[in-house]
Formats: sequence, C-alpha cells, structure tokens
Amino acid sequence: MKSTNQNTGLRNRNVPLEMTPDEFRKVGHDLVDRIADFFATIPQRPVTRGQSAQSIRSILKDSKLPIQGSLPDQLLTETTDMLFDNSLFNGHPKFWGYITSSASPIGVLGDLLAAAVNSNVGAWQLSPMATEIEAQTIRWIAELIGYPTTCGGILVSGGNMANFVGFLAARKLKATWNIREEGLTYSHEKLVVYVSKETHTWIEKAVDLFGLGANSIRWISTNSNQQISLEDLENQIIADTKNDLLPFMVVGAAGTVSTGAVDPLPEIAAICRRHNLWFHVDGAYGAPAAALPEASDQLKGLAEADSVALDPHKWLYSPLEAGCILVRDHQHLQKAFSFQPEYYSFGNSTEEPPLNYYEFGFQNSRGFRALKVWLGLRMAGKDGYIEMIRDDISLAKALYRLANTHDELEAVTQNLSITTFRFIPLGLPKQENQAYLNELNEELLNRLQSGGEAFVSNAKVDGRYVLRACIVNFRTTLNDIEVLPGIIVRHGRAIDKEMR
Ligand SMILES: *Cc1c(COP(=O)(O)O)cnc(C)c1O
Repeated sequence: MKSTNQNTGLRNRNVPLEMTPDEFRKVGHDLVDRIADFFATIPQRPVTRGQSAQSIRSILKDSKLPIQGSLPDQLLTETTDMLFDNSLFNGHPKFWGYITSSASPIGVLGDLLAAAVNSNVGAWQLSPMATEIEAQTIRWIAELIGYPTTCGGILVSGGNMANFVGFLAARKLKATWNIREEGLTYSHEKLVVYVSKETHTWIEKAVDLFGLGANSIRWISTNSNQQISLEDLENQIIADTKNDLLPFMVVGAAGTVSTGAVDPLPEIAAICRRHNLWFHVDGAYGAPAAALPEASDQLKGLAEADSVALDPHKWLYSPLEAGCILVRDHQHLQKAFSFQPEYYSFGNSTEEPPLNYYEFGFQNSRGFRALKVWLGLRMAGKDGYIEMIRDDISLAKALYRLANTHDELEAVTQNLSITTFRFIPLGLPKQENQAYLNELNEELLNRLQSGGEAFVSNAKVDGRYVLRACIVNFRTTLNDIEVLPGIIVRHGRAIDKEMR
C-alpha cells in the first residue's frame, strides 16, 4: 500500500543533506588539509589575479540550479579550487588595502565550531553557553581598550552596524520626546549630529535610514592633521542651539578611514558634557590600538565616550564578519531596541532577568559571532594583541621612513598603522604638477590593484591623490614592506613614460 511505503520512508528518511559521521570526518579532514595547504602557500600566491567579472562569471558556467545533488567530497574539492584560484587574499602578507585584516586561523576554526553547534544567540534560553561567551567577549574587548567593563554591548556584522546601534541609542536618549512612540515628525525640534569631514560614510546612511535626513549632519572642518576642529565644533553646537535645533550627538574618530587620524577625544568628551550631547567614538579601525601602553591620551580618551564602535574583523584579526558596539550604560541599548512580544517567553521564571540579545540590537535570530573573537582573545591574550598591533604600527612607520628617504616617493601621512605616500617622477617640480601627479598615481593604483604583487588603496590628502597602506596584517614582515617602494617605482616610471 502506498501510504505504508511513505510512512516507512518517514521512519528511516533518506536525507540528501545528512552525512554519516564517517563521511563527515573524511570530507572534513580533507577540507582542513586543503585549508592548511592554502595558508602555507599564501605568500607564494598573487594577492589577486585581477580577473575581469566576465572571466570569473564564466567559471560558474552560467549553469542552471542543479536538479540532482552532488557528492560532498567532490563538491568541496571543486569549490576549494575555485576559491583558492580566483579570490583576492586579504590574508596575504602584502595585502594592505582599505582596512581588512588577515583572518586568524583560530577564528576560522571557531566559525566552523560555531556553525556546528548552531546556537541562536538571540535568546539566552536558546544559547546559554554562547550568550555568556558573547557577554564575556564584550567585557574583554572593553577591558582591552580601557573602556569601563560595566558597559553593555553587542556583536554585530561590522562597523557600519555597530555605529548604527550607537546612533540609535543616542537618538532614543537625547530626543526630548518619546521618539519610539511618536516618531521623528512629532516634534518641531530637528535633531543634528556633529562629525568631522573625515567621517566614514556610515553616518550618511544612518541619517538617511533613520529618518533624520542628510541636512542633519554638521560636517565640521579638520586641521592639517585631519582631526576635527574643536573650535568649529563648539561654535556650531552653540549656533544650532540658538536656532532651536536639537544637537544630540558628536562622533569622534579613533582612527579615520583615510589616514588613521585620531580626534582629540578627551576634549570632545568635555564639549559633549558642557552641551549635554551623546559622545560616540567610531573606533571601527583604531580602537584596539588604545590597548597599547604607549597609545596617545587622545586615543585613550575613548574611555570617556557614551558608546564606542569597533571591528573585531579589522584589528582583532577575526574572520569576517564581526563588529562590536560598547555602550557605557547597558540600559540605553534596551531602551532603544527592546520589545517583549507575547510569543517570547524566554526565561521568565528565572531569578535574574535573562540576557536576551534580541533586545539589544537589530537582529532577532543571531549567529555565534563571539566565538571566533573570544578564541582569538584567549589564544593571543592581551599581551599577544598588544604585540601584533604594535608590530603593525612599527611596520607602517617603517614604510613611511622608506618613502620619506626615497628620491621618487613622497611620504604624506602616518597615523596608527596607516601610511600614505605617492610617486613623484624625478625632475618633476612638485607644486606645479598636481593634476599630472594625481592622474599618474591613480593609474599607478589601478596597476597595483590588478597586478597582484602587493595591494594598497588610495586616499585624498589636501587635494593630493595618494597611495595608502593600512597594515592590520599579522603576516606582514619587514621584508614585505621593504620591497614595496621598488614595486611602486617600477610601475610609476613605466606609467610616467607612457603619459608624457
Ligand atoms: C571600516 C570602518 C567602518 C565600517 O565598518 P564595516 O565593518 O566595513 O562595516 C566605519 N568607520 C570606520 C572608521 C571604519 O574604518
């Protein structure tokens, strides 16, 4: 009988996605072997092969959704080849573009383990151990950077999201009406936010997405070191208050994305106290450098912020994705994000209110991002992180010195682990040829980024198009740094010849 057959099938299901323990062990060991070989050979590989989108797409052969499945060992062999042969490797010792770190191997294994347990870190009840590990990770990150460990916080996907969470906590607290009940349009008072001109684009997304609009940003001028002008900042706050606007938040940079500049954070904190504003620090890149005993007081001033965003997937070397927001008073996250619907009954019977991360941020179901970060912090320890970050900074300084002493290079800026510089052909008067130099260096960047020998990105500093190396890479050595000027000058001379 048909129905009996069906039921027999349901008692002993033939599940296309399941593996036997032996199968899993076999393909898993093979995969780990292949990854270990990949790590071992990264330095010999090009950083990128600079392929076109067309050629990458052609590898996938534009094939249709498979109707029938494949065997996992074959599939993983094919897929590892595809990725190892056609990716850009930010774990390469000569990758210094944007702010993207090499990923710690322990973090890679942590992601595998986290996926195996598959905790849903939205609610304590669904992820008891994982939730407590996330809470400990947040305390440890705070401790590392000298922020009060009594803070609240949450791990998110990256710096943009971390900054958004801080922004919304500030908006909720500083609006003079109940913004969650009444929305933005209820009050005639317009919320305004203060940022330096060097601030990352997250702020533009934030004011757009969260209803304030682009005109609510006050772009404060910067000094010759790309730091926010304190005088302009305070004058603008006073003027806006007089005009019946509602200043609510100042963003200070703990390492700007272009040049790594650190704003004078203690002085910004004082301005925020005087005017009753939320002080948010965007430390997506630079906050971990506050762990160094020799860090500047300007950077260590992040301890005074109401909230700090930082990115474990940048200078804590966690594999993507991991961002983190710390908030001095943990209640401010709940006040901005918590709803307690009827259909959640997580741990209502316990003595202590349970730590349910769905009440602290955007997400409902959440993965176990904390594990890879926590494992990294345990494996290296505070001393290990200090050493890695310090070495990255020393290497960036070494690059600055090399550029500074090279006849055909101009060193431009050096902050934290970011060095900017440009190529200047011999015999070219520096001042008179800005447009030519900008064009030349832009073409130089294009060749470097597709050439695969070494990868840098770019910045604009006082109208100068400059090359930019950001070293958040524990695989980089002084040898890697020392060959960069030669590579750049070789390309630069060739382009100069072609352009004249
Ligand atoms: C990288 C960065 C961001 C954005 O972080 P993502 O992790 O890329 O979302 C924001 N601000 C600064 C200063 C950054 O360096």
